[in-house]
Amino acid sequence: MGVRVREMVTCPQPKCRYQQAGENEECKKCGKSLKGVKRKWYVYTAHGGKRKAKCVGSENAARKVADKVQAKLSLDDFGILDEKPVVPTVEEVGKKWLDYIRSVRRETTVERYENAMDLHVLPRFGEEKARRFDQEA
Ligand SMILES: [Zn+2]
Repeated sequence: MGVRVREMVTCPQPKCRYQQAGENEECKKCGKSLKGVKRKWYVYTAHGGKRKAKCVGSENAARKVADKVQAKLSLDDFGILDEKPVVPTVEEVGKKWLDYIRSVRRETTVERYENAMDLHVLPRFGEEKARRFDQEA
């Protein structure tokens, strides 16, 4: 795992176009002089078996991108990016709903709802994941 910033240069020889380290003074493949050839900055990442390269304009820009990528990869290593939203069960949602009812209705009403919930809803649906009612099954 890691992020690297590298300066790269592409051989100007049309038949070669070999991409190599920016510090090379002549092409490693064909020997052509690389003096005066524009260098490009790349950010390389290797993470979880995946490799990526991104061309970034200047060294400064490349280092900024690298810092951001590094921060993101660190989060990924802690599993933070993988966290899926937890869908509550019908029972959990029902309990919350009853708490709300308790705060706005009389106790007798709450008891009626509670009984209906215990008798009819929870035995059948309690363990199921709650879905929005407007969602397709
Ligand atoms: Zn070359």
